[in-house]
Amino acid sequence: MIIYIFADLEGISGISGDAYVNGEFAAAGRQLMVEEINLCASACFEAGADRVIVRDGHGSGVNFSSSQLDSRIELVQGATPGKRFFGLEGASGLILLGYHAMAGTPGAILEHTYSSKTIMNLYLNGRPVGEIGLDAAIAGEYGVPVILVSGDDKACREAEEWIPGVRTCCVKEGFGCNSGLLYRRDYTVKLLRETTLAAVRSVAEFKPLKTDYPATVRWDLCERCPVPVQAGYEVLSGRSYQHTAETVEKAFLG
Ligand SMILES: [Zn+2]
Repeated sequence: MIIYIFADLEGISGISGDAYVNGEFAAAGRQLMVEEINLCASACFEAGADRVIVRDGHGSGVNFSSSQLDSRIELVQGATPGKRFFGLEGASGLILLGYHAMAGTPGAILEHTYSSKTIMNLYLNGRPVGEIGLDAAIAGEYGVPVILVSGDDKACREAEEWIPGVRTCCVKEGFGCNSGLLYRRDYTVKLLRETTLAAVRSVAEFKPLKTDYPATVRWDLCERCPVPVQAGYEVLSGRSYQHTAETVEKAFLG
């Protein structure tokens, strides 16, 4: 059994805002991410995984040294153009670790959708979508179900709205983009271990997310961001465009 963990940074426990991502505590934020990855992976192995593949999934995709990880983990780092996941094929389940709510979610810690600088809103087949829904839809195209999502309370709610039956691990409560209640560390450590064990042990019960095809992804851009000029992209306005393709991954990544 292969379990794939896609790890982002913003929804990791102990991270309350941008100070831990780009600011004064950025090093501490990355250390918290490493600790949470190791904890989650260790629970995957304990629950019977033969292989655990971790995608270092924040920003550039290189947020820590491979030497910091549990030596049993296989690590995907760096950019993978045209592909959201590398090495997902054959996995039994996907864990979205440290995820965050979609752009514009009130009270959500570090809410955004892929790029806070360029994307105001994203839609999949007309429904507002964030990274949780879109990544689950892409994983579904590889036949892989999302089994667990961790993050703040808003990210967990969004996961439940998008992915029927998914397990969630709520490690903090958001008050705003840069504020929240961080649950005590001994509690989140125990909760992540227990929810991971439960999700991996029942991996056969989860179903890959289904989407209607062809798939259309629509972008509403932030102010002064250019719309694309290449063929296949339909420009709806100076700040909005869409792309339709036979898969969500192709509609989104081209
Ligand atoms: Zn991120």
